Amino acid sequence: MSTRLIQGPAVTTLPIDHRGRQVLLDAYAYQGNNEHEQILALIHRSPEADPDVVPIVRLHSGCVTGDVFHSLRCDCYQQLQLALDAICTAPLGAIVYLPYQEGRGIGLYKKLLAYGRQDRGADTIEANVEIGVPVDARDYEFAAWVLRDIGFRTVTLLSGNPLKKSALVKNGIQVNKCAPLKSASNRYNERYIRTKRKRMSHDI
Ligand SMILES: [Zn+2]
Repeated sequence: MSTRLIQGPAVTTLPIDHRGRQVLLDAYAYQGNNEHEQILALIHRSPEADPDVVPIVRLHSGCVTGDVFHSLRCDCYQQLQLALDAICTAPLGAIVYLPYQEGRGIGLYKKLLAYGRQDRGADTIEANVEIGVPVDARDYEFAAWVLRDIGFRTVTLLSGNPLKKSALVKNGIQVNKCAPLKSASNRYNERYIRTKRKRMSHDI
């Protein structure tokens, strides 16, 4: 992507309720090349943080069904909560939230089309192939740009997805460590998590 038209950041503070505790985060929003591509970086910074501390970062692709409605078909909500646990207790950390990468980048409508195929027996990869969309259409160039803009050039990445790490490295971010978030499976997402682990090389 060209980074020519990026606007931002719009900056404010965002108090959130995380597991019953009030946490104050710095919120940075950016707009990419079109109004559809927007990123929210929520940063936790403790006042006594060492200036050289390596920040903990989660790149989280938006999932309306999971993040908002706590769907059990995926593990997005659990991963977001586990990431917030880590970030809100770290001296320096950020959730970089990518709402436009819904459904691994294919959008809400096609994600539900793929779910329909999965209801009839396909796994998460076969379903995408059947409806003619990429298995993973996400890209992290804009996210890497945002990380550089907030001054995070070396990070510990909360992810077990090797594609995220290599995309960041390719775009100038050093990843000193990957720490996968281990979410628990349930009877609705068991197959999805198994497919991510076995067929997409995710360490989860
Ligand atoms: Zn999800």
